[in-house]
Amino acid sequence: MINSSLRELSAALAQKKISSVELTTLFLDRIEQHNPTLNAFITVDRERALGLARAADAKLGAGETAPPLTGIPLAHKDIFCTRGLRTTCGSKMLANFISPYDAHVVERMNDAGMVLLGKCNMDEFAMGSSNETSYFGPVKNPWDTARVPGGSSGGSAAEIAARLVPAATGTDTGGSIRQPAALCGLTGLKPTYGVVSRYGMIAFASSLDQGGPMAKSAEDCALLLNAMAGFDARDSTSLDRPAEDYTRDLDKPLDGLRIGLPKEFFGAGMSEGVRAAVEGALAEYRRLGATTVEISLPNSGLSVPAYYVIAPAEASSNLARFDGVRYGHRAAEYRDLIEMYEKTRAEGFGAEVKRRILIGTYVLSHGYYDAYYLKAQQVRRLIAADFQEAFKSCDVIMGPTAPSVAFKFGEKSADPVEMYLSDIYTIAVNLAGLPGMSIPCGFEQGLPVGLQLIAPWFAEAKMLGVAHRYQQATDWHTRMPEGWQ
Ligand code: GLN
Repeated sequence: MINSSLRELSAALAQKKISSVELTTLFLDRIEQHNPTLNAFITVDRERALGLARAADAKLGAGETAPPLTGIPLAHKDIFCTRGLRTTCGSKMLANFISPYDAHVVERMNDAGMVLLGKCNMDEFAMGSSNETSYFGPVKNPWDTARVPGGSSGGSAAEIAARLVPAATGTDTGGSIRQPAALCGLTGLKPTYGVVSRYGMIAFASSLDQGGPMAKSAEDCALLLNAMAGFDARDSTSLDRPAEDYTRDLDKPLDGLRIGLPKEFFGAGMSEGVRAAVEGALAEYRRLGATTVEISLPNSGLSVPAYYVIAPAEASSNLARFDGVRYGHRAAEYRDLIEMYEKTRAEGFGAEVKRRILIGTYVLSHGYYDAYYLKAQQVRRLIAADFQEAFKSCDVIMGPTAPSVAFKFGEKSADPVEMYLSDIYTIAVNLAGLPGMSIPCGFEQGLPVGLQLIAPWFAEAKMLGVAHRYQQATDWHTRMPEGWQ
């Protein structure tokens, strides 16, 4: 059961081979057994989960056709507000915060009948690439517990890799779905900006943040995205488009597919093992009928610097709401209002969050705004234009997701710039608002390597099909780390 696909679980539930309560109990027991080692969950609510499972069993037994994911367990990244269940965003600031409402994604997954097991550990306010910035301690990578699972959706990734839950949600501002998916041997998808509502998803950098699915396969991600996507008037950047079936192209043959390989993604910088695995995947795609063409994204080298101006600028504004007045942490002692703000924020935020707020307020300040923020926005436009030009000669772009496999705890945490470079291949996709995903494509010294796919705006269904055909021909995505039986 723990290795089953969502379709298999759905069929087993529909045919009454297993009940949702039994399935939920199986995963809850696995969490109890393995989470103390992995630290992937911040909150688990057994009673609530079993209640949801009983409701799902009632729906499944009622005879009418229940939605396909009914009764299947799920976990949400702790950035999504859940009514009545603690939402921390990995921060001391929100360590005891109970949201009075559900995020749109949470509502959608509830409506789909999925059973929420708990909330996943993450880098504080989604700022990080290793899960080391979480107030609740780092998550361990199930492939090697001395190594990071990636971030910021590292809890979601580690849980799925160790089979503590069949699927989870993540968010991706600069790579936080794709990079942990790569480092944990999973499939993760960041949709086109605006496809998934940000309502109730705690804001980091609003023009970049996008929620999406993480699971074992492209087919699972397509089913999850079907439930997750959709217009929501409460998010002003949510796109009002007709509903799509993201599974529709899963079985489409790859003949004639043109894969663009950005020369900037294949230069120095990636490890030899990552290069070999990615080259192997491209050879497999050629065998499956695709052709590869070299393309160029000439401004992609500027994506990390542009991101580290734009994302902190937006974060400094978004995080101004955590002032100790309305919700979250408040300093115990203070003389006046200003001191209350100062102490609350000094105590409630960790070092990386403070660093981002300082950078953000600096680049937005009078006298520096034109030199940094405005310039970064201009670069962002150029990066988006590069992709539009590139997609004239290819249907999908491929390359590595991350420059290396999972690194050791502490290896990059002393040097913020070194850490920021973990997202060197993923960040441009967020700046351009494009859909991207990572799929497992091999190993380097026993650690998983991710292949990144990037598609034109709204081409999620096509991209999922391209990923699925590869997963039908290979078995990297079925591998499970040892020691979590
Ligand atoms: N690692 C990047 C950062 O720290 C991206 C994080 C994300 O996508 N949420 O900002």
